[in-house]
Amino acid sequence: MKETRSPKQSTVPFSPPIYLASVYACESPEQARDLLEHPEHGYVYQRDAHPNADQFAEACGDLHHAPWSVVTASGMSAIAAALLTSTQQGDHVLVSDQLYGRTLQLFVTEAARYGVVADAVDTSDLESVRRALRPETRLVVVETISNPLLRVADIAQLADLTHQHGAELLVDNTFATGRICQPLRLGADWVVESVSKIMNGHSDVMLGMLCGPADQKARARDVVSVWGLASSAFDCWLALRGLATLHLRLDRACQNAQQVAEFLQSQPGVNHVRYPGLTSHPDHALASRQFMDQFGWMVTFDCLGGADAATRFIHRIREKVPFCPSLGEVQTTLSHPASTSHRRHSEEALERLGISAGTIRLSVGADLLLPLLEALENSL
Ligand SMILES: *Cc1c(COP(=O)(O)O)cnc(C)c1O
Repeated sequence: MKETRSPKQSTVPFSPPIYLASVYACESPEQARDLLEHPEHGYVYQRDAHPNADQFAEACGDLHHAPWSVVTASGMSAIAAALLTSTQQGDHVLVSDQLYGRTLQLFVTEAARYGVVADAVDTSDLESVRRALRPETRLVVVETISNPLLRVADIAQLADLTHQHGAELLVDNTFATGRICQPLRLGADWVVESVSKIMNGHSDVMLGMLCGPADQKARARDVVSVWGLASSAFDCWLALRGLATLHLRLDRACQNAQQVAEFLQSQPGVNHVRYPGLTSHPDHALASRQFMDQFGWMVTFDCLGGADAATRFIHRIREKVPFCPSLGEVQTTLSHPASTSHRRHSEEALERLGISAGTIRLSVGADLLLPLLEALENSL
């Protein structure tokens, strides 16, 4: 980013400045017209573009080796921007039946009001994806690692299949980040992430990011401005600061998660430990091929004894591991899917997915490992 140098200030700040300006003064009508026509020449209005968003977006794009990246007000607005950029009335969308609840609602309920219909299938079963693809299918939507069962999407195979049918693959990479998985390099067309999670990592920002095909950059930027999905300067500034330590926080969290998963497997009060780094996980081989030597920081397990045992565990451990229905914090937190993210699912639907009232989802952080294992042992 260019810095203005005044005689009194001959140096530039080492840390990135924050630009809270909603509008920029123009020198002349000609300049204003030029800037509005050519956003790459400079800034005019924050909703169209601003320096803190561009700076953070560039760092996100680099992580994914993407042709471009745009930052939005939340993970959901990044997903909405992908939907609004790539589809139109009459299009069909195929989504994973394990998507984040709000994403499923966006594609299945909201988009249908505008004539884009969606079907949800088990995207771990490529045959059922193939059967559900239609001539008018425009987009296939999966998450790299699903919530809370941590199933891993076979991005390369799904991209192949999707492209054979003339559609595009959108991957929500929130649970992986570009440090564990780079979907564009595996053949995906679009990547979204909720920056509110481990990308920022400090539970004080709400942002999303979107990368897509080179020829869709201008359209995606227009969609973000026209639908009012733009990001706040302060959040982008904080997120860039968070990103500086992503490798440290994430690598530590993944190491911890592997240890926690192995420890939980040895506990008598625990059943069904799910972590892609365990050889018992159904997608372990796929994750080993597709991921960059790490398996994520989310660990899901069932308390034997169901709802009562889970409630007891949550109560006993809450001083050390708080119950926070989100994920990706520096500190380890936990959630209870049956009463939070999956509360609207019927009992049969939960059973079909393999979630019970005893299911606990840990978002393992960069904590000191031994006290964490101790807290788990004393609370189970
Ligand atoms: C949190 C989350 C979202 C939504 O992101 P927000 O920033 O909360 O809008 C989308 N997908 C996944 C996988 C998430 O975990």
